[in-house]
Amino acid sequence: MTRTERNSGDREALSSGRPPPQRMRILIANDDGIYSPGIAALAEVAAEFGEVRVVAPDVERSASGQAITANRPLSWKRTPLAVEAWRVDGTPADCVALGVSQWHGVDVVLSGINLGSNLGNGIWHSGTVAAAKQAVLLGVRGIALSVAVPEDEPDFAALRPSVREVLSLLLPQPELMLVNVNFPSGPSKGVMWTRQSVRHYDGAVLPGTDPLGRHHFWFTLRPVVETDEGTDRWAVERGYVAMTPLRLDLTDERALQRMRGPPDGARPA
Ligand code: MN
Repeated sequence: MTRTERNSGDREALSSGRPPPQRMRILIANDDGIYSPGIAALAEVAAEFGEVRVVAPDVERSASGQAITANRPLSWKRTPLAVEAWRVDGTPADCVALGVSQWHGVDVVLSGINLGSNLGNGIWHSGTVAAAKQAVLLGVRGIALSVAVPEDEPDFAALRPSVREVLSLLLPQPELMLVNVNFPSGPSKGVMWTRQSVRHYDGAVLPGTDPLGRHHFWFTLRPVVETDEGTDRWAVERGYVAMTPLRLDLTDERALQRMRGPPDGARPA
């Protein structure tokens, strides 16, 4: 079945000679797992913008980065949600690869809404951001969405207008290939374009002992107190929704320039 045949009102459009309306195809993934309230909230708002399908991990896979499952086959099972949904025994990146390969013509992948911020250098570990990055590797736009969770569960009903505002802003801009969005925990003061904060890293290893006195270590987070103006962390701490355009090219252009030296001809062979 072709894409145009699926759309409602196509027969009418064909008979009138008008091009049929194109509904955006939105694939949704996350790293908190398919039963997270965050993915249900995102699917609900996204359905206002197009045709939605959820393909997400069967269990939580937070901080799994962009790992893929290459040493065994993957399988998926139909899962009862408000929209068509499939749970996968794999990573967030697996889910996006599977979803994009099995649903022809995906326009954009939305990942989230993650329970917890993905800011600054923390995005290197993020499965939420990795799902959006995996989309970009496959030539599809990716948008990662996360919300700060200070104490209780986030209030997704209260968050809905902000999610709608962000999708209204981002979805009509096909040149924006990869965007990392972070919502503040409380009411938002508005949206802000930001850069990734890279000066500090909040990961830390904390030694401890178990009830039997054996030593172990927890990978934990320590608060970053100093934030640079205009960064994602700075904006979220001040109650704004931070939207950071990202790219996958990690080349250090200045180092490359330095090592290559001046342009050809200016340097002895
Ligand atoms: Mn997560």
